[in-house]
Order: sequence, then C-alpha cells, then structure tokens
Amino acid sequence: MELETFMEDVISKNPGQPEFHQAVNEIAINLIPFINKNPQYEKASILERIVEPDRTIVFRVVWEDDEGHPRVNKGYRVQFNNAIGPYKGGLRFHPSVNLGILKFLGFEQIFKNSLTTLAMGGAKGGSNFDPKGKSDREVMRFCQAFMTELSKHIGEDIDVPAGDIGVGAREIGYMYGQYRKLHTEFTGTLTGKGLDYGGSPLRTEATGYGCVYFASEMLNVQDQTLEGKTCLVSGSGNVSIYTVEKLIDEGAKVVTLSDSSGFIYDPDGLDTEKLSFIKDLKEVRRGRISEYAAEFDCEFHDGIKPWKVPCDIAFPCATQNEIDESDASLLVKNGCKVVCEGANMPTTLEGIKVFENADILHAPSKAANAGGVAVSGFEMSQNALGLTWTHEEIDEKLHVIMRRIHEQCIEYGKQNGTIDYFRGANIAGFVKVADVMLAYGIV
Ligand code: NDP
Repeated sequence: MELETFMEDVISKNPGQPEFHQAVNEIAINLIPFINKNPQYEKASILERIVEPDRTIVFRVVWEDDEGHPRVNKGYRVQFNNAIGPYKGGLRFHPSVNLGILKFLGFEQIFKNSLTTLAMGGAKGGSNFDPKGKSDREVMRFCQAFMTELSKHIGEDIDVPAGDIGVGAREIGYMYGQYRKLHTEFTGTLTGKGLDYGGSPLRTEATGYGCVYFASEMLNVQDQTLEGKTCLVSGSGNVSIYTVEKLIDEGAKVVTLSDSSGFIYDPDGLDTEKLSFIKDLKEVRRGRISEYAAEFDCEFHDGIKPWKVPCDIAFPCATQNEIDESDASLLVKNGCKVVCEGANMPTTLEGIKVFENADILHAPSKAANAGGVAVSGFEMSQNALGLTWTHEEIDEKLHVIMRRIHEQCIEYGKQNGTIDYFRGANIAGFVKVADVMLAYGIV
C-alpha cells in the first residue's frame, strides 16, 4: 500500500473536505508503513474501512429568534466507528462547522478514545449555529430544536455526545433538558452535565488538566519539570482556561491567551487572580480577551496569533490549523522546545514537518487532549452505576490515564533513542480498534 494512491482515493471519495483529508493524511503517514509490515490489516482492508464513517446524519434545525423570525441551521452527527464501544464525541456550534470538519474531528476521535483504554467509539457532531451574540433564550430555543432531531439517533449505549467549541455547560444543560423531556428518562446520554444532574467532578477541568499532565510526562523523560517554564497558551475557552490553571499550579509562567480577535501578552505571567478574571470574562460575561489587557495593563495584539512570543512550551488550545509552517518556524526560532496540543489538529502538516526537523517534542491532540473524553467516560460509568466519585478520585484516575497514553506513545513511537509522539499515538490508537474489527469479520 502506498500513501499517495491511498490519499488520492480518500480525496476522490470525499471531495471538498480538506480538513478530513488532512486528518487522514496525518495518520496514514504512520499507519501505512506499519500496515505494510502487518499484512493482516491490509488483507482485511482495515484502513479503507476505518476512513469511512458508519453513518452521517444531516438535518435541518429551525428555531425562533427574539424578534419572532424563524431561523434555519444545519445539524450533523457523524457516527464514525463503534468497534470498541458506543459512539462518543463532542458537539461543536460554530459558523465554520461543515461535514468535512466534523468528519476530521470524528475520525480523530476514534484513535483518541482508543488511547484512553476505555470502551468508547468515535463520533462528532454540531451545527453552523453561532452562539456568539445570541441571547440566552435564543441559545435555549436552538439547543431544544437541535436536540429534538438528534435525540432520535443517540442513547446511553448508542451514542453519547458532549461539548466542544461553542458548547459548554449552558448548552449541555438545555440539550439534556430537552432529551429528558422527549425520552421520559434520566440516563447518561450526554456528558459534561451539571454536577447536580449526573455530571462528573473534574469534567470541566479535565481536557486542560490532562494536557498539562501529558506535558509533565514528556518533560519527565527529559529529567525536566514545568516549574519556571515560559508557556504560550492560545484560545481562552474551556481547554485554555484549565490548561492555564494547572500550569499555574505546576509553577509555570503563562504569558499569552487569545480569542478570534487577537492575543494578550502579559510578561509577568497569569496568576490565580488574573485567571479568575478570565473565567468571569469568558464563562459568565462572554466578553472579548482585549478586556484583560485593559484590566491588567498589558499588550493586546489585534487580529494575530501568539506564536511570535519567545517561549519554552506552546499549548495551542483554540482550534484546528492555528499553527502553520511560518508559525512553527517562528516558535522554533524563538526557542520553543515542546508543543503540546490542547486543541484538535492545531498544527498543519507543514507545521508538523518543521517541528519534526527541529527535534521539537510534539504531542498530538489525540494523545494530549484525551483527558476530556476520558473523564466523560468516567461520567458514563458513574451514571450507569448510580454513584459519584470524588474530585480526588477522578483526578487520580485522570493522571493514570494520561500516564498510560504517554506509555503507549513511547511503546510505538520510540525510535533510535528519540520519541515520535505522532507515530506512537497513531499506531497505538489504531491497533486496538483494528484488532477488534478483525475479530468481528467483514461487517
Ligand atoms: P471553547 O468554545 O470553550 O473555546 C474556544 C476558544 O478558541 C475561544 O477562545 C475561541 O475564541 C477560540 N477560537 C475558536 N475558533 C477560533 C478560530 N477559528 N480562530 C481563532 N480563535 C478561535 O472551546 P473548547 O475550549 O472546548 O475547545 C478548544 C479546542 O479544544 C477545540 O479544538 C476542541 O475541539 C478541542 N477539545 C475540546 C475538548 C473539551 O473538553 N472542551 C476536548 C478535546 C478537545 P472566540 O470566542 O473569539 O471564538
């Protein structure tokens, strides 16, 4: 099997979906040489089968705005692969959402969920609805309309959605409220729920904390710690906030945060008080990051990303393709040694090459940000058992999972004394799902 012919086939079968092609390419680069040495996978056409979703559901969402006008959005759920467990993956509400983006996210989710060692298949969904600038009532009406259709396709043993960009505690609350009403049941069909109605301790923090635990593991191999390291974080949403919180705990110095309007540079570093301001700004008031610069008298860089700031470690935590070739070159030139991906696929294929050539330790999102879905898996277990573990118990379990993911990356990614985290994560994530698909036969 050859990469070029395989990718030509994927592109011709999925036209106009560049992010999906990119996600497949990123994995196929590592999987094809591995499959060529392990012919049982080629014989059963596992790679050709795994890049085709089990099903994609596309639907109309009609809701009424505050002026009484009907509005129409597209809704999606891509149920990609349930070989190892019920479909599991977030919902994204953002104007850029389309089928290609959700297919890239759902595809990545298969491997990420496999790496967690928990029984979860891969899926993703969402809508081109933009919660920004909408009133609470409008968001509620949209979420209810979206769930009215989605609820026909999900269930605690079938498909368990969660949050992602634009879908936080508020949106999950409205969607779960509607699901309950439609199904007359109280089950764990969504994760990221509020603590008083079946949510798990630490779910809000899990992706960010897990990402920092993964970075600690990477540094540990080099006999280093996060203490005193200068870190760039992009974004200022759920993943960014809790990445910063844990970095502060670990004694690192975080000097940037961003949103789609630009980034702030605070050379003194964020502390707990400044982070509380950010939580209120982003989680409650839903304001812009420039307000931080005004409050704490530091620089705001309008319309650009933070990657020109010198650092030891970069944590891209906003969105896909936020580090391109020139951003990666700037990071390397300015002394960055580690890149740990909190967002999904934040680095372009050209950017990955730059880091590879510069021997940067680079953790792919499917490994580094798997803490969120792992704690979602714990939320499903707690719902099924009818009990709640403590914050400390979950934190300990999250630590163990992130350590195990790191070990799997080493097992499959160690080569000539160096660790290729991309190769390690891609192969380790693949092997478990592929072996189960072999066990099922041709289905
Ligand atoms: P949020 O909606 O909470 O925050 C997203 C942040 O990224 C905001 O600051 C937003 O700025 C910024 N952003 C989004 N799109 C763009 C864009 N096109 N250009 C520049 N900035 C942008 O989302 P999350 O924190 O939940 O998700 C962030 C990333 O982490 C995503 O890639 C997501 O898939 C991934 N992820 C999230 C998990 C979770 O548990 N939440 C789990 C695993 C991965 P603005 O408000 O201006 O749009």
